[in-house]
Amino acid sequence: MIHLFEPHGDDALLSCYSLLKRHSDKTVVVTVGHSRESKRLADHFPGIQSEYGDVYEIKMPDYRAAYKTNYWRWKKLGDVRDNRSPWEWQRDVTRDGAGELWKESRELTREYVLGYLQTLWGGITSHGNHLVLAPLGLVHPYHICLADVMIEMREQFSCPLLEFGFYSEAPYNSAKWVKELENTHPVVSRHLLVSMMQGNDGSESSKKEAILKDVYPTELGLLRFTRDAVLSNAEYLYIPVSWSIRI
Ligand SMILES: [Zn+2]
Repeated sequence: MIHLFEPHGDDALLSCYSLLKRHSDKTVVVTVGHSRESKRLADHFPGIQSEYGDVYEIKMPDYRAAYKTNYWRWKKLGDVRDNRSPWEWQRDVTRDGAGELWKESRELTREYVLGYLQTLWGGITSHGNHLVLAPLGLVHPYHICLADVMIEMREQFSCPLLEFGFYSEAPYNSAKWVKELENTHPVVSRHLLVSMMQGNDGSESSKKEAILKDVYPTELGLLRFTRDAVLSNAEYLYIPVSWSIRI
């Protein structure tokens, strides 16, 4: 089984459409944050299951712009900057900037994810393998928060029958944002995972768009500025070798 954790209802579709298309019958989409359910993905992907955590999440509309400006300023410092990687830097800046919000949201997110994984762990038999897929944590404060929790969970739970992987999130992985963050993610950068590009030649983009319109009608504004990144760009997964042959 594949347990695809998304911060918001729409991230699995936007970033892992190719995966859903091929493996919907063995995928559970777990929407963690208090946004939208992904239940109706089942109308388009046969056999897909879903869970809704409805967890209190960090939302800061003005935060991202400020963060991006600071990121570039920080990057320009070159050798003078401390030895944190860009990914760690953005996590720390987000955590410090959000303060109490981060603490509260992270604690609730951790509790929910821990409960989910404990149940999964309890039901593990030698017959079925599980892959937990999480966002890398790019730019959006709640994406970073969930990714941070997942890195912790990976330390705690990973075993040959329950492995962890990450996916790169559209539209934050586009050049418009800060693409190189992805290569400095603590797990990915240590080469613990295989990088896989999921084909997307653009011919599927109208299907993806139609599903987005149907399942998440309130999110269509997203396409106005980031259409290519959301619909046509390739999708990237960072997964354990044992799963790379099955996905
Ligand atoms: Zn999101």
